[in-house]
Amino acid sequence: MPPEVSPRGKVGVTECQPCFRRTWNNGTMSPESHVPDELVERARVADRILVLTGAGMSAESGVPTFRDESAGLWSQYSPEAMATERGWRADPPLVWAWYLWRIGIVQATTPNAGHVALGRWQTTQRLDIVTQNIDDLHERGGAIVASHLHGRLDRFHCIDCGRPGTPDLSPASTEPKLRVPPSPCGACGGDLRPSIVFFEEMLRAEDIDNAVESASAADLTLVVGTSSVVYPAALARSHGSFVVEINPNPTGLACDLKWQTTAATGLPALVTRLGF
Ligand SMILES: [Zn+2]
Repeated sequence: MPPEVSPRGKVGVTECQPCFRRTWNNGTMSPESHVPDELVERARVADRILVLTGAGMSAESGVPTFRDESAGLWSQYSPEAMATERGWRADPPLVWAWYLWRIGIVQATTPNAGHVALGRWQTTQRLDIVTQNIDDLHERGGAIVASHLHGRLDRFHCIDCGRPGTPDLSPASTEPKLRVPPSPCGACGGDLRPSIVFFEEMLRAEDIDNAVESASAADLTLVVGTSSVVYPAALARSHGSFVVEINPNPTGLACDLKWQTTAATGLPALVTRLGF
């Protein structure tokens, strides 16, 4: 447990309202000066840090959420229908083509300054990243991810026998095609599907275990760009972790500090304040 480093302790929620956008451009204040002091102090003394990341962090790199308005050719299909095993089996080329398009979009994006900052931070402190994001932007930003809770879009396995496999990704493109036949499993001939967690599927036990272990041991927890990792955040808080939400649009997440900023702005500023 970290020592109490602030007279405020954990009582109540401190609303940080950085005037970042108003003052950054007039040269009077640096981004680093807007990092909440309490967060810097907590980070300096933390033995273990947990960072929970979600869609907002990838969105800053240009990865859409693939909800209705961004589903392109597939806008007449519900995301649920496209992200279930039933949906896959009903029309494998249609669903595989949708994922190839998404893979193409992710491949065309680059990690943002927030991803890179976490990678830099990991070289000096024990920092576990647990993400809901299925892209590989954390890894390409130089970080190691402890848990991809919703799986990975760059890993594949057979829908029938479960063996891992490597499909032909050459059709992956930001230019969508409506149907592409999936690659066959080398062992049984079944379809190779992305190793993401479809609706109606369980999260992988290993990913849950890693997230629970990290949440149980963290002194400091950052919840970045998401409002829906309620369980790990609540678990961390119940184990005494100081929980900070980093989000441009604060949510109803129960936490100790809300820092109204984005990942790509706030995390580099924080890491710079820490001297890394
Ligand atoms: Zn197979």
